[in-house]
Amino acid sequence: MSSVDMPSPAEGTDESEHLRWMREAMNMAEEALAASEVPVGCVFVRDGTIIAKARNRTNELRNATRHAELEAIDEILANKTLTPSIIPYALSDTTLYVTVEPCIMCASALRQMGIKEVFYGCENDRFGGCGSVLGVNSILPHPKHPAYKATGGYLREEAIMILRRFYITENVNAPAPKSKANRVLKTEIPSRPSSRR
Ligand SMILES: [Zn+2]
Repeated sequence: MSSVDMPSPAEGTDESEHLRWMREAMNMAEEALAASEVPVGCVFVRDGTIIAKARNRTNELRNATRHAELEAIDEILANKTLTPSIIPYALSDTTLYVTVEPCIMCASALRQMGIKEVFYGCENDRFGGCGSVLGVNSILPHPKHPAYKATGGYLREEAIMILRRFYITENVNAPAPKSKANRVLKTEIPSRPSSRR
């Protein structure tokens, strides 16, 4: 594991525990890859237990909103024991581990659900809602929904490589395969941006 792979340990947190949960999220990303979906996986953790886990299903359901995070949130909301009505926000005591920085859509949904905190693997340079494109999690002010902290870098290299594995093979089964079949899997990993929220 290289030095850029891990963030510096945060105060009062157990890094090995974060990695353990991220490993579970990565297992879901592997499941997505096996199902020919963009390989992103996540787990929601409450009181030291996974209460929901999911992966992308956008191709299977032909629905661009079926990101891993929203799949898992639907699972949680469908379970009355996981969504007590006594708390104003359904996820205020729940932490998300997701292999890729939540997109703007998911970052907003997580804020509206009052997520406690987010840990992610790699940045989402095109759609990231936790700082890469927009800081939906904390920079954009909101009169009602509390901001949340999002920290990247957990199993980051693996998160990048599984995405590359997907994009290098996609469409090779299409009727007229494009030049993607000739692409070479790159293995060098760019450094993390210096500022991350
Ligand atoms: Zn998303």
